Amino acid sequence: MARCDVCGNDAPRTFTVTRGDQKGTFDSFECAIHMMAPACEHCGCRVLGHGVETDEGIYCCEHCAREAGAQHRERPHANTDLVAPASPPSESREE
Ligand SMILES: [Zn+2]
Ligand SMILES: [Zn+2]
Repeated sequence: MARCDVCGNDAPRTFTVTRGDQKGTFDSFECAIHMMAPACEHCGCRVLGHGVETDEGIYCCEHCAREAGAQHRERPHANTDLVAPASPPSESREE
């Protein structure tokens, strides 16, 4: 029996996910997503699909990638109409 790397649950049925050199044991997909899924650099939601990868990072959709690209010039409006971010990107500093 294995223990979930995220919640520590000693579950009878666990599975492992390997991506590159990152590997984890989980009791649920929720936990797997929590640890393995990248967060959108713009809105912070988990990228569960293919996402959009740029030089800056990965985004959940083209809209976010474009918004993030324009962010360096103009101040973005609050974008909270999607999923509440589980862990927002480390972008709390004001310019
Ligand atoms: Zn778990
Ligand atoms: Zn996004």
